[in-house]
Amino acid sequence: QKMTEEHRDGEKKLVLVEGELLGEGAFSRVCRVAEESTGRVFALKRMAKSAALQCPEHVFCEQHITRNIAHPFCLRQYASFKDKCHLYMLFDLMPGGDLMDVLVAEAKVIKYPVADKNSLRKGCLAPKMKMWQGMEEPMSKFYVASIVLALEYLHENGIAFRDLKPENVLIDGQGYAKLGDFGFAKQVEAGGRTYTFCGTPGYVAPENVMGRGYNHSVDWWTLGVLMYVLLTARQPFTSPKTQDPMEVMRRIVDDRWPIKYPPYMSDEARDLISKLLERKPVKRIGMLQGRARDIKAHPWFVGFDWDALAAR
Ligand code: ADP
Ligand code: MG
Repeated sequence: QKMTEEHRDGEKKLVLVEGELLGEGAFSRVCRVAEESTGRVFALKRMAKSAALQCPEHVFCEQHITRNIAHPFCLRQYASFKDKCHLYMLFDLMPGGDLMDVLVAEAKVIKYPVADKNSLRKGCLAPKMKMWQGMEEPMSKFYVASIVLALEYLHENGIAFRDLKPENVLIDGQGYAKLGDFGFAKQVEAGGRTYTFCGTPGYVAPENVMGRGYNHSVDWWTLGVLMYVLLTARQPFTSPKTQDPMEVMRRIVDDRWPIKYPPYMSDEARDLISKLLERKPVKRIGMLQGRARDIKAHPWFVGFDWDALAAR
């Protein structure tokens, strides 16, 4: 299938040859495309106008923000155009897929030694309990660190990302992570607040659920959820019996709902997650003085070469 589209910036016509489907989100399809004249490959995101009309504000923000940001860990948009029924955005192709693909490939069921009465009587721990484990910590540290740098950059530019989750982190040809899908990203002025409830049920921050206004603090919460998901291949807030998103969100806002950490997780990882999943935004790590600096200086990142990552 061949499609011809006019480049937004003017004279040049783009002729794109459509290839395989790369992924689908709630509102859009993303396909691999090649520019006919140069053979250069891109990812083309297509959204039905009817879907875009349900939230024109979000579409405008995605357009505006992805065109104006420039950071090694944020996906950039090259062009956008429309036809009768669809809006299109052209991005760098990220051949490594998204972070959920990486997690699925890494996740495994492990047998963990647990103390029970019988085994303790015999004086040993029985390797009994089966549980899920996600990525090894060094690997997840690399991805989490890249996301910290991307969020730090966005926040410095007054942008809240608002929909962080593994599906929205894309992997480039060299294995580096980039934030993609700025569909919910929004400019929030310093000291300002925004009110729209948005995000993904298991990931939304309590202040987002409560509806009394929030700012970029929601991104540090969702980073905590993402880090938990990468390490455990489980979400920290679920409703296994009812699968009810409302129940999940009730647990997110409920101070008494405990977060369960699996025994294989290091103390440092547990501590950082618990500081990101702090229900009061003002007390959350990343929101205190020094902002992202406090996260970078957390013991989980001891020995991590931030400068090398930032200089890539
Ligand atoms: P939505 O706003 O509908 O969630 P996304 O922008 O998140 O759409 O894209 C949906 C999926 O398509 C992603 O989760 C990812 O798997 C895939 N995808 C998106 N952009 C790219 C890209 N540049 N390169 C490769 N795959 C991509
Ligand atoms: Mg998405």
